[in-house]
Amino acid sequence: MSNSKSITVVGAGLVGSLLSIYLAKRGYNVNVYERRADMRKNKMSAGKSINLALSDRGLRGLDGVGIGDEIRKIAIPMHGRFIHAQDGSTNFQPYGKKGQFINSVSRAGINMKLMDLAESMSNVKINFSEFCTAVDSRKGISKFTNENSKEEHSVTSDLVFGSDGAFSAARLSAMLGHDRFEYRQFYLEHGYKELHIPSGPNGEFLMEKNALHIWPRKDFMMIALPNIDGTFTCTLFMRFEGENSFGNIKTKEDVKAFFEKTFPDAIPLMPTLIEDYMHNPTASLVTVKCFPWTFDDKLALIGDAAHAIVPFYGQGMNCGFEDCVVLNELIDKHKENWHDIMEEYQQLRKPDGDAVADLAIGNFVEMRDKTADAKFILQKKIEAWFSEKHPDKWIPQYTMVTYRPDIRYSIAKERGMRNEQIMQEVMAGIPGIENNFQTEEVEKAILSRI
Ligand SMILES: Cc1cc2nc3c(=O)[nH]c(=O)nc-3n(C[C@H](O)[C@H](O)[C@H](O)COP(=O)(O)OP(=O)(O)OC[C@H]3O[C@@H](n4cnc5c(N)ncnc54)[C@H](O)[C@@H]3O)c2cc1C
Repeated sequence: MSNSKSITVVGAGLVGSLLSIYLAKRGYNVNVYERRADMRKNKMSAGKSINLALSDRGLRGLDGVGIGDEIRKIAIPMHGRFIHAQDGSTNFQPYGKKGQFINSVSRAGINMKLMDLAESMSNVKINFSEFCTAVDSRKGISKFTNENSKEEHSVTSDLVFGSDGAFSAARLSAMLGHDRFEYRQFYLEHGYKELHIPSGPNGEFLMEKNALHIWPRKDFMMIALPNIDGTFTCTLFMRFEGENSFGNIKTKEDVKAFFEKTFPDAIPLMPTLIEDYMHNPTASLVTVKCFPWTFDDKLALIGDAAHAIVPFYGQGMNCGFEDCVVLNELIDKHKENWHDIMEEYQQLRKPDGDAVADLAIGNFVEMRDKTADAKFILQKKIEAWFSEKHPDKWIPQYTMVTYRPDIRYSIAKERGMRNEQIMQEVMAGIPGIENNFQTEEVEKAILSRI
């Protein structure tokens, strides 16, 4: 298919790279501009987390361009949460039904495969070390500074996509150039730091491979996701200031004492803990909500540029990939009428972007606190049992968000809130439910509230 329209994509991160493939498959001439050097040629970090959780929405986006199976090959299935209590005891909490899992994948691994696929198409060019300084959406002009030569240049195209992440230059230009642009950006009081668990002497995993490990400690937590080389990438989420905080851990002795007290079972697995802690940066966690997402029928924001969210539902990338799927469907639906495509794109996706942002913040409390709470664990068991009995009547919120791309995030959030209310009522109203929940009384109590 050929198409005379030219498209500029700002940012060759996860979403920009996938989007460029979708657009190129439709025949558009796509030029991608990425501020960083080519990560396939230079050993460099892909930014943010080393690995991330890929679930069904994201896989749907990858399958749509035929690269899903290739990514599945470099993914490690995680069937549930493996909880590490402070006293060293552990328990496993499945994510869903048997056979349902999320996938741990390398961020750089997916990004590089997407770039390879994009560049294998004759109508895509990725231009590296090109820093976007501004986008004029009325004229379709994007301005760049080359990071090496420092030379400035402009590109005119029919359409521009801002996929340049949470601190998007495309979004900033749109904000400065348009009246009534709604914008809200807020940070959590918690930041994060990545740490490392190496593989065993023969390359083996030193903890359960097929799980997402969590050390919940109420106000803070550490998690670990497996990598295909037998290592785990750990992320410590903790306040910047206060009692248990990054601000309070200043010396090597502080690191040792803090880990000995709070994560004793992890210490033997982390021989480079102190060096990693002192060396690795502490990063912040931002949420961005804005509107509109499209401007003058020429510029659209997509991925984190439109909806940066905190990582606790493992959905930021998945949501960005879903943006690409929705946009692609709308191009079909509106037969390339870009006014209609852009309008419906933002009307459909904005409520979902807001919903997943809220869900992500809510899930932080669930992960760092509730996963260690007996009442919460009981609730999950009751929900799993009831939804097994009445799959047409009850879908747990985690299942809707993670495994059901056919259910919009905004609907999942709404139904999840209703589920929560019902469960609170039922659990409070039936004495002794913790001893036996698989009863007709519990079933009827839930059914009567649906
Ligand atoms: C700690 C952490 C863990 C996470 N874990 C998960 C997870 O498990 N699952 C999940 O789905 N999501 C996760 N996320 C979210 C996920 O990382 C993002 O949602 C995803 O990276 C968004 O992709 P993007 O392409 O929109 O933005 P980005 O990945 O940020 O890519 C933006 C690209 O644009 C480039 N760029 C930026 N500015 C410019 C400019 N001015 N000019 C040119 N290029 C520019 C950048 O270099 C980058 O390549 C996590 C995030 C964090 C911080």
